Amino acid sequence: MNLIFLGAPGAGKGTQAEVVCNELNIPAISTGNMLREAVKNGTPAGLAAKECMDKGDLVPDEIVIGILKDRIAQDDAKNGFILDGFPRTVSQAEALEKMGVQIDKVVEIHVADEKITSRMSGRRVCEGCGNSYHIEYKPTKVEGICDACGAKVVQRVDDKPETVLSRLATYHEKTAPLKDFYAAKGKLVTVEGQEEIADTSKLTLAAVKG
Ligand code: ADP
Ligand code: ZN
Repeated sequence: MNLIFLGAPGAGKGTQAEVVCNELNIPAISTGNMLREAVKNGTPAGLAAKECMDKGDLVPDEIVIGILKDRIAQDDAKNGFILDGFPRTVSQAEALEKMGVQIDKVVEIHVADEKITSRMSGRRVCEGCGNSYHIEYKPTKVEGICDACGAKVVQRVDDKPETVLSRLATYHEKTAPLKDFYAAKGKLVTVEGQEEIADTSKLTLAAVKG
């Protein structure tokens, strides 16, 4: 099963992708996580991406598409995958089609903009493995330390309120048109993001299996 999770920054795509990938035994592929990893490792793609990411702008298509293409060619993605954060533009969706990738479903996790801005202030991410947490909705067991790998959890530079607003604007302008793109193909399912992560997970799993 090849799935795409769509939604505004902070809507909970990554969190739900983790839940669903465990359930279906397919990898969750996050271009945001891969780009942050590339930045950390100082790869050419990372160096080119950093400035865009810090400002909350999209990274140029050719960089992201290259990273994504290499990732889905790996063995563990043979039986399916969940894409989190890709495609983010209609041209990225078209690139996916050109690669011959068939998408079964696109799950949109919908959360109103007002809720997004307040949620983002509590978001934290692990410096080591990229797992994401929330100080209120999904706290680490030990404060400031990742449950999965023991590294430090920090606030992302692009989670500052000003940057969040510009990322939201980018989402509406560049990414939201993908809803129509996939709805026209009969592939879009929308799930209303809930306060409780577990409630959203139930809705998301039902949407994926239904
Ligand atoms: P969020 O979880 O807030 O949606 P991500 O972690 O998915 O954010 O992405 C963080 C940043 O990485 C984006 O603001 C953007 O700069 C870059 N990025 C991630 N995926 C893509 C993509 N598919 N196309 C362009 N830029 C991307
Ligand atoms: Zn970690």
